[in-house]
Amino acid sequence: MRIAMIGTGYVGLVSGACFSDFGHQVVCVDKDVRKVQLLEKNVMPIFEPGLAELVANNVRAGRLSFTTDLAEGVRNADAVFIAVGTPSRRGDGHADLSYVFAAAREIAESITKPCVIVTKSTVPVGTGDEVERILKEFSLLKQGVTVVSNPEFLREGAAIEDFKRPDRVVVGTDDEAARDIMREIYRPLSLNQSAPLLFTSRRTSELIKYAANAFLAVKITFINEIADLCEAVGADVQEVSRGIGLDKRIGSKFLHAGPGYGGSCFPKDTLALLKTAGDVEVPQRIVEATVQVNEARKRAMGRKVIKALGGDAHGKNVALLGLTFKPNTDDMRDAPSLAIVAALQDAGANVRAYDPEGMAHAEALVQNVAFHPNPYAAAENADAIVIVTEWDEFRALDLPRLAAGSRSALLVDLRNIYPVGEAERAGFKLVGVGKPRAV
Ligand code: NAD
Repeated sequence: MRIAMIGTGYVGLVSGACFSDFGHQVVCVDKDVRKVQLLEKNVMPIFEPGLAELVANNVRAGRLSFTTDLAEGVRNADAVFIAVGTPSRRGDGHADLSYVFAAAREIAESITKPCVIVTKSTVPVGTGDEVERILKEFSLLKQGVTVVSNPEFLREGAAIEDFKRPDRVVVGTDDEAARDIMREIYRPLSLNQSAPLLFTSRRTSELIKYAANAFLAVKITFINEIADLCEAVGADVQEVSRGIGLDKRIGSKFLHAGPGYGGSCFPKDTLALLKTAGDVEVPQRIVEATVQVNEARKRAMGRKVIKALGGDAHGKNVALLGLTFKPNTDDMRDAPSLAIVAALQDAGANVRAYDPEGMAHAEALVQNVAFHPNPYAAAENADAIVIVTEWDEFRALDLPRLAAGSRSALLVDLRNIYPVGEAERAGFKLVGVGKPRAV
């Protein structure tokens, strides 16, 4: 199959590279000249484990190429994937579809032969209808073009594995010929394992993506509130999680209490779902509560640190370990660390930080934060050390060294990485999340 991938962000680049690895002929298109120039030199514009090697192998094999010229990219394609961003629209929280519609128009003006146009971006119900209308209006081809929904469920940090071994692939179209093309594109997935290909209508497919993300956001927020309850009643949230997660009806994933969800998907997708629901006057109260609770929680984590410092953070040094919204990514979009930094700085603290991959992006988003090249440098003379993101390299820190270099040997572990015994043996006072001894 000849595939054009419009947008080479986290989703487009990983999807394009994986499709080429399946054996398809893929052209990745991005209007960001800098990104394409980097990719042509095999420099990845994003951090994603395994991606550079995957891209290099497939470029070498002649199956993967990059261009800024959309018309050239889509010219011979059997399938054109739209994988551009759909951020929250400034002001009202609706998904900003301007990039999707602009891409659709450019595609319409460029295609010269029948093909399927596949929306991989996360888009509200009904977007496929509008993309179809744009194609009808601006394309010279009056037949043989079908608009399909194929939402992406990969997680940043494990994106290649998720793409190649998905729990399911959702395809929304009622057109049999388009289903055949999608079947052919994803056929390699059925060779070594059975990833179910779920065919459904386009609107249903669009909603599946939002329902999935909203459900996961609810699950995280649920355990975070249970963590607060644990602290109040002297229970341990990690054991509660295990106790409920072993029940197969519940499942153990997404039951880790922490500083609240962030990232480029859950915050914007929960909001967009609420906007869709509002437009049709069908309130989604559980998701509404989730959004509110999560928003409040991020700043509350800053207050938790201040409380651990004895209630006064003025002039205190606080070292944050981890800034990205989760490990193995450089993505800082809507990371809880941003609200934590703001809460600490508002209380007069001096914030220092270290993150393995996120500091370059973080520098543009926060002010007056001192960045350090490793956790030990960040923690020097700190009155509190706060683990915000559970990067692997924070799981085996030399705790005695960290404690000795700090001023007060206070560790606030917002990811519950360290057992209290281990931290105390290293000389730390430990404050976790949802732990019986938490202050
Ligand atoms: P991103 O912002 O990282 O990348 C989008 C890319 O599209 C950018 O490089 C931009 O330059 C390019 N672009 C925009 N308009 C273009 C055009 N007309 N022609 C060519 N290129 C264009 O976005 P992302 O994180 O990859 O997300 C893309 C979509 O996938 C979003 O709808 C998102 O919600 C969804 N999604 C993201 C994830 C994730 O983990 N990031 C997971 C699942 C789904």
